Amino acid sequence: MGAPLDTIILGAGTAGLAALREVRKRTDRYLIVNEGPWGTTCARVGCMPSKALIEAANAFHRRHVFEEFGLRGSEGLAADIPAVLQRVRALRDDFVQGALEATEGLGAHALSGRATLLGPRSVDIDGTAHATRSIIIATGSRPTVPKEWLAFGGRMLTTDTLFDQPTLGPRIAVVGLGAVGVEIAQALARLGLEVAAFTTGKTLAGLSDPAINAALAARLRQDLALHAGAKAELREVPGGIEVRSGHHRVVVDQVVAAMGRTPNTEHLGLDSLGVPLDERGLPAVDRQTLQVGDLPVFLAGDANAQVPVLHEAGDEGHIAGMNALAAVPARFERRTPLSIVFSDPQVAAVGQRHRDLEAAHTVTGTVDFADQGRARAAQRNHGRLNLYAHAGTGRLLGAELCAPGGEHLAHLLALAVQQKLSVHGLLGMPFYHPVLEEGLRTALRDAARQLPPAAESDLATCTAIGVAALD
Ligand SMILES: Cc1cc2nc3c(=O)[nH]c(=O)nc-3n(C[C@H](O)[C@H](O)[C@H](O)COP(=O)(O)OP(=O)(O)OC[C@H]3O[C@@H](n4cnc5c(N)ncnc54)[C@H](O)[C@@H]3O)c2cc1C
Repeated sequence: MGAPLDTIILGAGTAGLAALREVRKRTDRYLIVNEGPWGTTCARVGCMPSKALIEAANAFHRRHVFEEFGLRGSEGLAADIPAVLQRVRALRDDFVQGALEATEGLGAHALSGRATLLGPRSVDIDGTAHATRSIIIATGSRPTVPKEWLAFGGRMLTTDTLFDQPTLGPRIAVVGLGAVGVEIAQALARLGLEVAAFTTGKTLAGLSDPAINAALAARLRQDLALHAGAKAELREVPGGIEVRSGHHRVVVDQVVAAMGRTPNTEHLGLDSLGVPLDERGLPAVDRQTLQVGDLPVFLAGDANAQVPVLHEAGDEGHIAGMNALAAVPARFERRTPLSIVFSDPQVAAVGQRHRDLEAAHTVTGTVDFADQGRARAAQRNHGRLNLYAHAGTGRLLGAELCAPGGEHLAHLLALAVQQKLSVHGLLGMPFYHPVLEEGLRTALRDAARQLPPAAESDLATCTAIGVAALD
């Protein structure tokens, strides 16, 4: 081994590329190594192709409200599934190209191959050992599929293979209804496929508030057959794959396994670090520094299995990149939790979730979008938003929602939670008319009614005038 490098980054996904940006500002004695295709999970098989598919599905699904709008002829519309998938791939390729630009021109700094740890200061890359002062592990995650299901071959899909299919269905099962399962199941159903969706639990899309979960379940049931509460078992039968769950039985052509993701860490040699590993084989990672124990090793993004969403992977890559080259790792305050599921209505969780809160100290403000003016005008009046505030101070703590325009409402709420605003403080902000945010105001007013009266004068807390469209 030659003189040690300053750092080696394992994995060129969102976290690895964010780390690379910090590392390149500080040294040119580094390597970034990636196993398999470059271009990031997000662009290749994750956030971006899934959103492209969802947009096509929702555009087609809008035909169901055309009659209500007075628009005729929607029965003439058809979803050309191969063409839909072709557009998804064309967009995906463009997004991947963008991601590839981040590593263009790195020359000998970028290696393709599998990296394995030999210890906290040494990495094997395809048979060659490299000495290094620090290591950034950002190896991501992959879809979890039970081994025995692999026997179904090409009919067993995951998000790694779904977007590359020439066509789909017509009968499809989605097993697992976390964020990814809900998005994919609804999108495929809205494209006209016959979708049966299964989950062992009762909660969907990571929600913990029963009222919001019920709102989502009700909407999903309009699009697909939803089976919750029992394990799905698969077997080969004449004509397809049989999926059984409790009393339900369905035969399908393809199955999408959406049962969560497994960190890509089991082949990394983490045991060579000499720190305890948990039952998943992962070491404890400090969320503020991303450091593993007091070693010069940092674990960022999906690989640490803490908060597997893109903006967190990016933040963690930056933190790991800075700390890997710092004399003393800095502690970073993390942003307000924010997650969004691109179902229709969109699901989001902000700040503290329902399950984290003590009922005795929490006030919940609610709004049902069935009667919300702007949502009614758009024929999108479905869903509910619950926001949580501290019963003593009125400070906003968090929210769960399944609501039209949920991605925007969630960002507004995240801003308020991170800025430590109170219900009364947020009610003091202007609300234009007619907008979906007036629905948020209804929930804030509901919370305000349950809180001690605010000392400050607050125009927006005047009694509602009782006209639904203006409330
Ligand atoms: C279908 C889907 C939809 C999603 N939608 C959203 C969304 O809408 N919003 C959102 O915020 N998040 C979404 N996510 C999650 C988001 O994509 C991930 O959180 C993010 O991509 C994780 O980035 P990462 O850098 O940790 O991992 P990755 O981007 O997976 O990068 C890890 C890299 O490391 C490589 N690697 C693995 N092992 C080794 C090794 N031993 N040596 C070298 N290299 C190795 C891998 O091949 C890979 O290239 C979605 C995910 C999926 C699957």
